[in-house]
Amino acid sequence: MAREHTLILIKPDGLVKSLTGNILTRLSETKLEIAAAKMVRVSRELAEEHYKALKDKPFFEDLIKYIMGEFHERNKVLAMIYTGEGAIKKVRDICGATNPEEADAISIRGQYGRITTKGVYENAIHASANPADAEHEIKLWFKPDEIIFDVYPTKVVDVKIKERVWA
Ligand code: UDP
Ligand code: MG
Repeated sequence: MAREHTLILIKPDGLVKSLTGNILTRLSETKLEIAAAKMVRVSRELAEEHYKALKDKPFFEDLIKYIMGEFHERNKVLAMIYTGEGAIKKVRDICGATNPEEADAISIRGQYGRITTKGVYENAIHASANPADAEHEIKLWFKPDEIIFDVYPTKVVDVKIKERVWA
């Protein structure tokens, strides 16, 4: 099995329900390593890029609102990268099926997910589905220096930036 990297998001419902600790405990069963972690405020641009493969789905607009925290009055997610042998499948297996009612009862989504009356699958966690998605998602959510391993090739460029510093 190849060493892989996978993007995990604890979605707004997971944060509001105070499930972070429980979910991290379940993920530790995979024995993978945490390579990066940060809280992120999700802009519409980030949400739409993350879920761009689903943009023609009828639930797309609600999905964007969901991941932006509009249904939970909490515009933040916990974004993480887990690394190790077969990481993508190991994490997907422990997350369970997309539809929380179809997910194995002891998977994370089976334990903590629900379908809202509007029909949105609030399934508490996102995990990359395959290596191509993982690369797209990791590069979207993280900069190279926020990750403790070299995950993909990088280059050094000169940039002139304005940075916010402590007053
Ligand atoms: N989703 C939904 N209704 C559906 C399918 C998906 O609300 O019929 C939501 C759900 O939150 C899911 C996300 O859209 O996690 C992304 O869908 P995808 O098919 O990529 O499932 P995942 O990779 O998250 O298992
Ligand atoms: Mg997916």
